[in-house]
Amino acid sequence: MELGQSSQPRRKTRQVMVGTVPVGDGAPITVQSMTTTKTADVEGTLQQIYDLAMAGCDIVRCTCNEAEAAEGLAQIVPRSPVPVIADIHHQYKMALAALEAGVHCLRLNPGNIRKPEHIKLVAQEAKARGVPIRIGVNGGSLDPSLYDKYGGKVTPEAMVESAERELAYFAEVGFDDVKISVKASSVPLMIEAYRQLSDAVDYPLHLGVTEAGPLPGGLIKATAGISTLLAEGIGDTIRYSLTADPVEEARAGRALLEAMGLRERKTIDLIACPSCGRAEIDVIEVARQAQEAFGDREIPLQVAVMGCVVNGPGEARDADIGIAAGRARGHLFVKGQNVAVVPEDKMVEALVEWAEVIHEHGVEAALERAKATRATARQAAEADRSALLDAKGTDANQSEVLIQNIRNLN
Ligand code: SF4
Repeated sequence: MELGQSSQPRRKTRQVMVGTVPVGDGAPITVQSMTTTKTADVEGTLQQIYDLAMAGCDIVRCTCNEAEAAEGLAQIVPRSPVPVIADIHHQYKMALAALEAGVHCLRLNPGNIRKPEHIKLVAQEAKARGVPIRIGVNGGSLDPSLYDKYGGKVTPEAMVESAERELAYFAEVGFDDVKISVKASSVPLMIEAYRQLSDAVDYPLHLGVTEAGPLPGGLIKATAGISTLLAEGIGDTIRYSLTADPVEEARAGRALLEAMGLRERKTIDLIACPSCGRAEIDVIEVARQAQEAFGDREIPLQVAVMGCVVNGPGEARDADIGIAAGRARGHLFVKGQNVAVVPEDKMVEALVEWAEVIHEHGVEAALERAKATRATARQAAEADRSALLDAKGTDANQSEVLIQNIRNLN
């Protein structure tokens, strides 16, 4: 499957430009996050924006809830490495102030800016400046009249109608530079709302499960909702709304798109075995150390940490570089071929070193580098493999012993 393809073809949409970043109409799906600093704290907010950009965030959103925040945006926007969206609730005047500050996009919540004359005024001003607006419907802050109309419940139909009402106000002033979200904290609700919305309009869609919560539950909820829709070809930009450092949101968004083949890999894809009775190392700890050592470094390789040399190299033979634990030592392999043997406490260091070589010079060059040591590395791996098989047999998890014990109980 080619990069950029989901299981279903991507839904055809219009395109909006958020600063220099295109959203919709086949553009790469983008990752968004939101700063948690006071926007008036210009240096603190910029630091967080830089951290987010490093972690894979393409577009950032900052709250614009007071005049000081708008003034902060005037200083943040020209120095930000990624386009900036102003998040507006309740006060339409803050939208006008954010436009004056030069933001690249506005997010309006139709549930709490409800006066048509205010909505149209903001749209007119955005149109004059060529700035798009996200209609950000939120299940938790739906217009009360819609809530009543749909039987005192938040339904997908009510959320879609909220977006359509806003679109109608925009249409009155000839504004259609729009993307839309219909987020809810319930995964089934948001999935159905986005499905209905994507049938009703051709604007680019911003996906998210709102207030998904802390890790790991929040990560699971957001992934369930966003990935289901992406696999159906729905969605043009995404945000994980986690109760965590926003850098985690950006990492999660990027990781999801890379895992689904919707964005090119930027950082390592760390695979690791789940460990079992055969493991010769603490796989969880070594994988954690490897994750930490690579961090957000732009080395787009698949790196494997495997708990034993009996099955590890075979199971991870497609990895660009991997390590499998032998008897108090690690066996390094490049695309399944043994290249070196290192002491157990140098395994992570060796992984990083070889990953750098492959990243810089390619797999063939790495294999060439190991030309003199490959035969001995293979023999050492074979020796450890045989010794471990001798020591633990083919039933290292001792299932057969346990089964016999169970039978003996009867
Ligand atoms: Fe990991 Fe080896 Fe167990 Fe597979 S058999 S899970 S590689 S320790």
